[in-house]
Amino acid sequence: MSRYDYDLFTIGAGSGGVAASRRAAVHGARVAICEGSRVGGTCVIRGCVPKKILMYASQFGEALEDAGAYGWRFGEPSFELAALIAAKNAETERLEGIYRRMLADGGVHLVEGHGRIVDEHTVEVDGRRVTAERILIATGGAVSHPPIEGIELALDSDRLLDLEQLPQHLLVLGAGYIAVEFAGIFRGFGSDVTLAYRADLPLRGFDDDIRRRLAEAMDGRGITLCSGFEPVKLERRGEGYAAIDGEGREILVDAVLAALGRHPNTAGLGLDAVGVKTREKGGAIEVDRFSRSSVASIFAVGDVTDRANLTPVAIAEGRAFADTEFGGREQAVDHSLIATAVFSQPQIATIGLTESDAQARGHRVQVFEAGFRPMKNTISGRQERAYMKVIVDRGDDRVLGAHMIGPDAAEIMQALAVAVSMGACKADLDRTLAVHPTTAEEFVLLRTPRE
Ligand code: FAD
Ligand code: NDP
Repeated sequence: MSRYDYDLFTIGAGSGGVAASRRAAVHGARVAICEGSRVGGTCVIRGCVPKKILMYASQFGEALEDAGAYGWRFGEPSFELAALIAAKNAETERLEGIYRRMLADGGVHLVEGHGRIVDEHTVEVDGRRVTAERILIATGGAVSHPPIEGIELALDSDRLLDLEQLPQHLLVLGAGYIAVEFAGIFRGFGSDVTLAYRADLPLRGFDDDIRRRLAEAMDGRGITLCSGFEPVKLERRGEGYAAIDGEGREILVDAVLAALGRHPNTAGLGLDAVGVKTREKGGAIEVDRFSRSSVASIFAVGDVTDRANLTPVAIAEGRAFADTEFGGREQAVDHSLIATAVFSQPQIATIGLTESDAQARGHRVQVFEAGFRPMKNTISGRQERAYMKVIVDRGDDRVLGAHMIGPDAAEIMQALAVAVSMGACKADLDRTLAVHPTTAEEFVLLRTPRE
């Protein structure tokens, strides 16, 4: 008989916490999980899922426009944001119900409320103390507000996902994942959108050829791009707002989205008192490859560890933790090769090294690329092009990275990621027969390297 109430107590019922708890229960552990907000976490309630629903909604306008060239005739279309938000809310509620059922059916006890660690084996949830042999912190991340005067006037992605009235002119500050995704969504709904960012191109860290083409495509879709803009102040101006940068440039709009990054959710968790070490910069919980913190009985997975802040990564880390600690099978997640997609319009997807990273790591690089107008755009007359790029090591022919901007990039990259994760060489792509006519086939038809 254990001297603890549970074998595992998880704080946070998001992607990582739910996956870890359910897997631990499968291994026979007695598990409880606490959640201070809604079960499902960021991805299900205010991230991937609602974002993608809005993304789908934003693309119907373009589809309706293109339909005319394909022979379809409709009346004058109109868009009602409030109706979409109601449908989105119904779907996230449905999914939350499924998550709650999955926990119950999996034998995981849900405790509603905020958790705070009291000692190495005790968590307090809204005044009630629970003990466990192991504690897993899976509290995710939260929106960051850099020290910009008046930044509290801006909306964040949580609030934008519940907006019921379309802003006529939306300013998006930042140019990371969230900024470019929401800029595309609100442009698709019909708002005027300005994307203002401090770098020369959006999406720092992505391949430069992709970043350049994204900027061109956003411009082509009527988004105003304002590079080199580092906001220092936000203020009310009449019914709207003014964003001001260090050089005194002003952007006047009806609404502002601050998409300036996220930080690990560790506030109020009691980490200092119990001795869990956090990184000086950013405050993420320090863990080893098995998600062990500096305290032997305490572990952490997902965004709170700031390794790669993506849902599949949080899930994989959670399951690896459970397999290692309760399944008798040491498992660690390999963070070196992670495919990812940005649901910008057009979409971007990528795996492996960018061209400049490959060069910086000393690879002798060969670049294969293709740029073309997707077939669907020929009849409709859209000028937007797709672009694919494969980075190959000249020495051993290994594919180091694959990048794409264009329709269905995320779906295409998921399949290609299998090959790249298996260590595919360029010759493997070359001997793969194409599926025709598709956009994806270009990845197996690249023959001539760039000079
Ligand atoms: P979370 O899912 O954030 O879960 C943490 C949970 O802990 C939350 O429910 C929170 O309420 C709870 N919690 C926090 N503190 C406490 C406490 N003290 N006590 C009790 N409960 C607590 N990733 C992708 O892979 N693809 C995408 O398309 C994508 N889109 C995104 C879009 C947006 C707008 C955002 C914000 C994120 C997106 N992400 C996407 C990232 C993804 O959502 C996160 O990486 C993922 O949710 C991390 O999972 P997690 O388990 O670490 O944390
Ligand atoms: P990101 O880290 O992707 O981007 C943050 C942006 O804010 C960057 O453009 C950064 O500029 C800018 N920034 C930060 N501080 C300042 C400042 N003081 N002044 C001006 N600009 C600033 O964060 P997001 O919030 O967009 O997303 C958080 C994470 O969530 C992502 O990194 C990703 O892991 C995950 N996510 C994943 C999605 C997906 O998988 N499709 C979708 C949405 C989120 P600079 O580049 O110059 O530093």
